[in-house]
Amino acid sequence: MIKDILDGVLSGRELDFDDAGILLSAKRDDLYPLMHAADTIRRRFCGNKMDMCSLVNAKSGLCTEDCKFCAQASRHKTGCETYPLISVEKMVKAASEAKKIGASNFCIVISGEGPTKEEFKKIKQAIEKINKEVGIKVDCSLGALEKEMIHDLKSLGIDRYNHNLETSETYYKNICTTHSHKNRSDMVGILKDAGLRPCCGGIIGMGEALEDRISLAFLLKKINVNCVPINIFNPIKGTPLEKIEQINPLDAIKTIAVFRLILQKPTIKIAGGREAALRDLQAMAFCAGANGMIIGGYLTTKGRSVKEDLQMAKDLGFEV
Ligand code: SF4
Repeated sequence: MIKDILDGVLSGRELDFDDAGILLSAKRDDLYPLMHAADTIRRRFCGNKMDMCSLVNAKSGLCTEDCKFCAQASRHKTGCETYPLISVEKMVKAASEAKKIGASNFCIVISGEGPTKEEFKKIKQAIEKINKEVGIKVDCSLGALEKEMIHDLKSLGIDRYNHNLETSETYYKNICTTHSHKNRSDMVGILKDAGLRPCCGGIIGMGEALEDRISLAFLLKKINVNCVPINIFNPIKGTPLEKIEQINPLDAIKTIAVFRLILQKPTIKIAGGREAALRDLQAMAFCAGANGMIIGGYLTTKGRSVKEDLQMAKDLGFEV
């Protein structure tokens, strides 16, 4: 079946929901053929480049939303570091560090559901300075934006904007009640209509069913996103999801492979939770269709050394 699906995808056929379900329930013996199929599709449609992006958490915590997985929601007692928007200078410094460690993109991320006008003004100043003084491609993840803000970002040369859907539409009510899945997918549509390339993915392993993961992948396919960050849930103490058992690494790798078979062309970027959830099996994710990673640490948790990540990507035969 896996061979038929691979041949079908290579000749332009789409995977259907039922077949994706069978693949996602595949037993251990079928994992390697599935990884091979996903890796073949990645090489055919995406080539051999590893997308390595680094981020700055430019405003941490203090968020009034209630995303149950998130360390930065102020109603959860996680003890995460909180601070208002950092200075323009600090953002520029973080961008030049990202360039130094070999990141191809630098993403400015802020907590919350959207920047104030004052915050946005400061972020624009930082982007102008980074463009002028650092010369690294800047992406943004600032929550929901007004139309003029999107226009301003475009005129500063921003072309990729991160706004994750997190999980399926059905499961979303279990992880957030202060805004809806529709709010988020509408925003992605607005970004696309304005000509930005959405970087849009989610989190696997938050207690969702396998069907929820498949629904998310098909929705991302329908929206036609450019880059799909897959976060692997890492339970944070003090959040309502702290007791969820971490996903088995092989199940996470299987999910990544099925995402590649469904999505085919976009970058699949392994984001937060890579080290904590995959442990020694990290490299297998990049033999199962993934072709991007976040390097240099995450929003509220540390990553491993960039040197190890670069070495892993080179050892796997990727161009970095
Ligand atoms: S995911 Fe974003 S919006 Fe949700 S609580 Fe965390 S910082 Fe706030």
